Amino acid sequence: MSARPGETITCRQFVELATDYLEGRLAPAERERFEDHLALCPGCQAYMDQMEATLRALGHIPEESLSPSARDELLDVFREWRTADRLIE
Ligand SMILES: [Zn+2]
Repeated sequence: MSARPGETITCRQFVELATDYLEGRLAPAERERFEDHLALCPGCQAYMDQMEATLRALGHIPEESLSPSARDELLDVFREWRTADRLIE
């Protein structure tokens, strides 16, 4: 696969779809684009790790993790990771 993250969905769309994905509410085509992005984007892989850990610990995704400000904070973190490539492993 030669696609880059921006050619599937954006990180912002990914974060917005993450809860629906974990709860099995995405349509097959949406889920495919979501998984394509996940495979290509270290920032979103880390985000999904956090979401899955939260889901396992609490049994659900807490409302506050879905707020626009929480999303914006996460997306800022992603941008910082991208500018510091060596920190992504
Ligand atoms: Zn991403």
